[in-house]
Amino acid sequence: MFFPTIYSANTDERHIVKDKNTCACGKRYHVFAILTRSDLRKITFKHYKEVSCPICKSSIKHEE
Ligand SMILES: [Zn+2]
Repeated sequence: MFFPTIYSANTDERHIVKDKNTCACGKRYHVFAILTRSDLRKITFKHYKEVSCPICKSSIKHEE
């Protein structure tokens, strides 16, 4: 199954996008009020095995 994910260069982790502000683990993935085009380009669909954030991964398992 594939999910919209975003890569955080700060923590070297790939998170699952929950909505336009936050990841599944509750982390905000952009700090600016306006989502820029470059922010949207960072969102890529990946298999959940490629998600490296353990909290985001566990949130998927929770839904299954
Ligand atoms: Zn996460």
